[in-house]
Amino acid sequence: MAEIALRNIRKSYGKTEVVHGVDLEIERGELIVILGPSGCGKSTLLRMVAGLEAITSGEILIDGQVVNRLEPRERGCAMVFQNYALYPHMTVAQNIGYALKIAGLSKTARLDKVRQVAASLGLTEFLERKPGQLSGGQRQRVAMGRAMIREPKVFLYDEPLSNLDARLRVAMRVEIRKLHQRLGTTTLFVTHDQVEAMTLADRIVVMNKGVVEQVGTPADVYKRPETTYVAGFIGTPGLNLLPAIAEPDAGVIALRDGQRLAYDTQRWPDVGHGPVTVGFRAEALKLEAGGLSGRFDFVEELGAAQLVHGTFAGETIIAHVTDARRLLPGDPLSFKLAPDDIQLFDAETGRRMPGEVLPATERRRVTPTLVKA
Ligand code: ADP
Repeated sequence: MAEIALRNIRKSYGKTEVVHGVDLEIERGELIVILGPSGCGKSTLLRMVAGLEAITSGEILIDGQVVNRLEPRERGCAMVFQNYALYPHMTVAQNIGYALKIAGLSKTARLDKVRQVAASLGLTEFLERKPGQLSGGQRQRVAMGRAMIREPKVFLYDEPLSNLDARLRVAMRVEIRKLHQRLGTTTLFVTHDQVEAMTLADRIVVMNKGVVEQVGTPADVYKRPETTYVAGFIGTPGLNLLPAIAEPDAGVIALRDGQRLAYDTQRWPDVGHGPVTVGFRAEALKLEAGGLSGRFDFVEELGAAQLVHGTFAGETIIAHVTDARRLLPGDPLSFKLAPDDIQLFDAETGRRMPGEVLPATERRRVTPTLVKA
């Protein structure tokens, strides 16, 4: 049974609807990341699960029980906020133990639990400090400790790493993942950072303008984005997307300037002659003569690899390679691409073309998407 179920959840502020009917089932112990740009409704969705925001219509179930009318503290969720929301006048120990004090636990019992939780988060030596005497990462851990000590059914994280510098963000991400492996608590984590989502999640919920675009494992959303929106959002860089014409009789996709790319017609048997959006990963491109020809623009050095930017058929294409040569802007550039690295999307709706037949090796790995239309 799903630990959390969202059924056709809608939220309006006044006359403006900002969440347009979200359906989602979350299994016990899953770490789900809700990913999307600022303003897409992800925090609102999380706050509705927590009970901090009323839902306009739909149902939220936790452990099979409809919780629409339950107070936040009756839902068994513990939330970790971006700004930590610690009590500045209390010590770390008092902050972590506060929920137990409210619950009426004795001082000795409280101290025992606080010490356990603090030890598991590497906070033992800071127990007597005030939040003002801690670094951002330590404050974040105190906020997590305060949530953990309640042994909640569900952890809710609202952009908890956004205030940390890049290095600390990576370190805390690893800690959250380890903590999840150890405790196995069902977790909902909101972020706008696709790298954070890819590295943390069991499954990612990609949101756009109050709608769920796709639910899938990180590998699913990376390899088989359902829409051009997801394709462009996931990956560093996102999928290269170009307008083109499919010519299934010839087994090619023609770009705007007439250059043709062979594609796997057995994989896309239902694609007819006509406009499509063609997509391929930067990682699928090879710098080789005799392929797609265009002009070199510039290169982004990543250290172990390079992102080569070029203009092809009037569009930018980015290749992720490890053998970029020194080129000058405007120099000729050629990329090669295997036919089975080509993905096709509806030119109008942006949806992945239907009827795709996956190669046998990939079929086993597809996890069913749990979102209803
Ligand atoms: P995200 O977390 O994805 O950045 P939010 O869930 O915070 O997005 O907001 C979704 C939309 O709802 C935004 O357009 C935002 O302006 C609007 N919104 C959020 N809170 C309120 C509020 N209290 N009153 C009116 N509009 C709100």
